[in-house]
This record gives sequence, structure tokens and C-alpha cells, in this order.
Amino acid sequence: MKHTPLMLLSFCVALLFAGCTSAQQDTKNDETQTSSIDWSAELSPEQYRILRQCGTEPPFTGEFWDHHERGVYQCAGCGSPLFSSQTKYESGSGWPSFFGALDSSNIRTRVDREHGMIRTELLCQSCGGHLGHLFNDGPAPDGLRYCINSVSLQFEHDSIASKEASPKGEQH
Ligand SMILES: [Zn+2]
Repeated sequence: MKHTPLMLLSFCVALLFAGCTSAQQDTKNDETQTSSIDWSAELSPEQYRILRQCGTEPPFTGEFWDHHERGVYQCAGCGSPLFSSQTKYESGSGWPSFFGALDSSNIRTRVDREHGMIRTELLCQSCGGHLGHLFNDGPAPDGLRYCINSVSLQFEHDSIASKEASPKGEQH
């Protein structure tokens, strides 16, 4: 059986963007909140690709996969607080990983059936931005792994926590 390069390319493009078609349809209901925002102006091209087009950054390349400061990770699209550094852990995946959300009501989930897998997609409740996926191979007791793109996050340093910690040093 012979495939033309064009056929293969079409297939790859379909794979890349298939997941996002349904996400865009799904977020239509929230347009009242977000319709005033010109995303292409608010976001960098890479942020737009991941947050709005359900892209994924390559592992071990993002800003936060190996980031260990104390603070809060917010949605890069709207600033909504999503994760605390206290629930961040080393999953070895190459993406920032958390075993819990700061406030689960700030994160929406959706079944993602693309790429021959059934996965749970994570989206920002406020702006509908694509964050990553939720897996059940995380640490005990809940076994959750929130696998998030660095590009979907921005970091707010926790100045109070670092002031408290610095005079005594790290005592764990
Ligand atoms: Zn958001």
C-alpha cells in the first residue's frame, strides 16, 4: 500500500488538531466570559498554540518542569490561581507535575478521546485555556498526577513563605 506524502501530512495534521476541535466547541458555552479577549494579542504564539489550540510543549523544555521555588502557579491566560508549589513533585515526565490542585473549582476536566486514548483533559475554569492532562499514576494517597504545560502557567513567588523559611534555614 502506497501513501503519498500529502496523505501522511494530512493525517499528522489531523492528529495534532483533532483534540482541539472538540475543545473549542466545548468552550463555546463560556464565550460570554472570554469573547471580549483577543487571545492572539494577549498571548505569545506558543501560549496561543498550547492554551487555545490544545498543544503540548516538548518534555524537559518548559520553564517549570525543574522549578522548585515556593509560590503559586497561575493560569498564563487569565491569572487564575491553579497550583501551589507544595503539591509539585518530580514525576520524571519532563512536564510540571502536581498531585493536587490549589482549588479544584478553578480547574475544569473534560474527556479527551484523541490519539486512541481516553484521557482527562484539564482546562482553566475561568478562561477555558488548555492546561494539560490528569493521570492516575501519581503519588499516594490520591494517586493523581496533574501533568501541565509550563507555557500554560505563570509563577507568583510566595514572599511570605520564603521570609519565614530563610532565617532558620530548611529544616525538614
Ligand atoms: Zn485561565
